[in-house]
Parts: sequence; structure tokens; C-alpha cells
Amino acid sequence: MDRPKFVIQPEEAETAAKRLGVSVVELLPSLVKPAKSLARPPISNFHVAAIGLGSSGRIFVGVNVEFPGLPLHHSIHAEQFLVTNLSLSGEKCLRYVAVSAAPCGHCRQFLQEVPDAPDIKILITDSNALPSRAAGDGDEFERLSSLLPHRFGPDDLLEKDVPLLLEPHDNRLTIPDIDLDCHRDGEICNGGADSGHGTRSEMMRVALEAANRSYAPYSGCPSGVAVVDCDGGVFRGWYMESAAYNPSLGPVQAAMVDYVANGGGGGYERIVGAVLVEKEGAVVRQEHTARLLLQTISPKCDFQVFHCRAGLPAS
Ligand SMILES: [Zn+2]
Repeated sequence: MDRPKFVIQPEEAETAAKRLGVSVVELLPSLVKPAKSLARPPISNFHVAAIGLGSSGRIFVGVNVEFPGLPLHHSIHAEQFLVTNLSLSGEKCLRYVAVSAAPCGHCRQFLQEVPDAPDIKILITDSNALPSRAAGDGDEFERLSSLLPHRFGPDDLLEKDVPLLLEPHDNRLTIPDIDLDCHRDGEICNGGADSGHGTRSEMMRVALEAANRSYAPYSGCPSGVAVVDCDGGVFRGWYMESAAYNPSLGPVQAAMVDYVANGGGGGYERIVGAVLVEKEGAVVRQEHTARLLLQTISPKCDFQVFHCRAGLPAS
């Protein structure tokens, strides 16, 4: 059997569902078990997979990722991986989730940031925690609002017109001398010298673009990370906040989601360079945590930080 994929296109999903004689929603639970093999939990050895169906009809996979040598709060939970995967893929809404274990409180909270969060339908596949119901087209799923009643979420802190996580927005950050640096500086790693991949200018652009897609409505301190592996492959991620602050996911973690999903299954030591872009004078700074995480998982990684400025207001 092929290695499970992290994004399944709508046509593939429909073909697979038809083959099994089920709907696409009913297909989700059958994908949970094979996806668990993609998890990277060297501390707990507890593999979790979360399979999500987006509004586009694409299916997304999330798995848990743990980093030895670091405090546990650096871990990426499967549901956070899933939401990050949707965000990196430009998906606008999450409708259904089938997940191997009951979502922890941290993840029930993190999910509150996506549009229509209370209506996300969730099915726990490995647990007896929920009463079994007659199988049907999504009948056995239950709404997130029943798993987390009386929620504290974006509504409590944000104005109504602020885009939520997954909703398109542009933070309009700029780095004034980005073009100067492009011409002056050489490659950030040897691996990409001839291919044009992994040059500092490209890394800066990717990290700045990531920072511009970062979801940081609570602190106003967006940030983005680009990492390059020894083959010149570039991966990116952006900081995503939670109304409850602590479940927020850092930009390096988000870049690790891209690396795990699209880096071919390699180890973190293959990551040879990283660039963080964050705001000048930010109240919430990622630099020290990002350096700690990167140096722990890939000690030879070259890490650079660039500070950006707020651009012109949108209107
Ligand atoms: Zn969790």
C-alpha cells in the first residue's frame, strides 16, 4: 500500500469513497488508522491521526509530532497539525474531523479559531467515550459545540470583521531593504547553490510571505518561518494564535508541519537553514523560542532573523 498522503484531492476522495460504496464523509474514519503511521511521537509513542474534510472537498491529514530534548509544550497535536495543513493549503473551512483519540482540551480550544467552529462535526474512532450510533452520512459525528460547550473564543476578544484563522487576509508587512539583501548575499546553504533553491533572498521572501499570512489578531505580532533542507527544498509556516493564548502554534512548528507533510519523510537533521521574519519591536517575539527549537532538532541549522515593518493600512 502507498504511503498515506497529507492532502487528498476531491476527485481522489470521491473515487475512493465510491470504491467502498460510502460517502466521502463516511470515508474519513477509514483513513484514520493508516494515517497514524505518519505521526512522530518519540516521547509518548502514542500515535494520533486526525482526518479533516474541508469545504473544497479536499481531505487533509494531521498527526501528532513531539520533539525530544524540549519541553512538551513544543509538541504539535494532530488537530493542530490538521488545521495548519488546511491553512498552508489555502482551505477556507473545516467541516468534518475523524480523529483516533478524543481531542484534548487544548485542541478543542485551538479549533475555536476557524470559521463556524461550533458546527465542525467530530468523530472519535478509537474510543468508547461516545455512545455508538447508527452509521449514516455523518450521523455518528457530533458537533464541536457539544464537545466544548460555553466556549471562550474569538467572539469574546475580536471585532466581528476581523478575519478568522483560514480566512484570507494580508498582514501587509514589508522589509525595506529586502531587494538590497537579495543582491548582496549569497546562498544560505550549499545544497541549493545551483538550483536557485534556498538562497537567502528566496528564504526571506518565503518567510515574509508566510508572516503576511500569519494569524495573530490577539497580539498583533505576526511572524513567518522558511526552512530549507539539504536538497534545497523550501518549507514554510506561520504563527497562529488562540484566544486562550497558550494553545497558539509557533511559526517553526507550522513550518515543521509543512516539512513533515511535504518533505518526503526525512529526519529534521536534513534541515540546514531557517529564516524567521517578525515585526520590529514586537511584544510577542518568536526569535528565542524558534532558535531553541531549531538548534535542538537540527544542531547544524543556520538560523537568521529579519525584522519587518507594518505596511500601509488596508484602506
Ligand atoms: Zn490535543
